[in-house]
Amino acid sequence: MTIDPDCIFCKIAGGEIPSKIFYQDDEVIAFHDIRPHAPVHFLIVPREHIPTLQDCGEHHQGLLGKMVALAPKLAAEQGITNGFRVVVNNGQDGGQEVFHLHVHVMGGPRPWKIG
Ligand code: 5GP
Ligand code: ZN
Repeated sequence: MTIDPDCIFCKIAGGEIPSKIFYQDDEVIAFHDIRPHAPVHFLIVPREHIPTLQDCGEHHQGLLGKMVALAPKLAAEQGITNGFRVVVNNGQDGGQEVFHLHVHVMGGPRPWKIG
């Protein structure tokens, strides 16, 4: 599995940088975003260093499906009861800041800070 030692999300997955991880298995981790846009804002992140969706191949279909399928389960566990946004910022014009693939899940009562 590819890991980039300079990547902030690889460092979080490896436990090198502390974060509020509340779910993990052998393929993905989930932790709270450090600058939340909404009352509940967390990220679902593969352990593998995949920079963007363009870097995904057919063999990533299972992983991508798992990440999206985890969103409602983890949202419920984190107390989201009334809907949520699922966002993947992709590439420079897509507003991606951290080039390690991740799914944002945002929910909780409105108004939100952003979005
Ligand atoms: P992007 O713009 O790449 O889709 O989103 C990256 C997200 O990662 C941002 O919402 C940002 O707040 C979050 N983030 C960046 N660095 C850290 C960090 O060190 N810890 C945590 N928990 N979140 C981070
Ligand atoms: Zn990475």
